[in-house]
Amino acid sequence: MIRPILRYGADVLHARASPVGELTPEIQQLIDDMIQTMYAAPGIGLAAPQVGVALRIFVCDVSVGRNPQDLMTFINPEFVERDGMQLEEEGCLSVPGFNATVARPSRAVLKGLSRERVEQTVEASGLLARCFQHEMDHLDGTLFVDRLRGLQKDLIVRRIKKLARSGKW
Ligand SMILES: [Zn+2]
Repeated sequence: MIRPILRYGADVLHARASPVGELTPEIQQLIDDMIQTMYAAPGIGLAAPQVGVALRIFVCDVSVGRNPQDLMTFINPEFVERDGMQLEEEGCLSVPGFNATVARPSRAVLKGLSRERVEQTVEASGLLARCFQHEMDHLDGTLFVDRLRGLQKDLIVRRIKKLARSGKW
């Protein structure tokens, strides 16, 4: 089932998500829905808070469905290592219509449970490393807009508020 994706301003997007306890059938269903929702958008990653569930789960696929092995689910993920720096343009399904250049570490090693409850550790660089960090931010209530500074951030926030006031957000 495709779930509605919440937008900047929704409380659950700006709060820290809780760790997942038991992997119940409801959690499995949530993950399946998140994968379907991510592909339908389409996007390269989706975190549970974006569909209104305050749990530490995200799905990602930087190939957007072209390579089945690129589809990953992380439950209760944690960074093992992060280093380097990359500057690339970034967007978010919860902030549609806006992009900005965001500085991120260029390499990240992430561990967490897979959908099959297997402990996995994945080393990523480039786009996948960026995706991991963007999705991890979601689990801590941070959106890419929050990582911007000064005028760039003010401009996006002002435009979102204007859209919200006119009922277009
Ligand atoms: Zn996002």
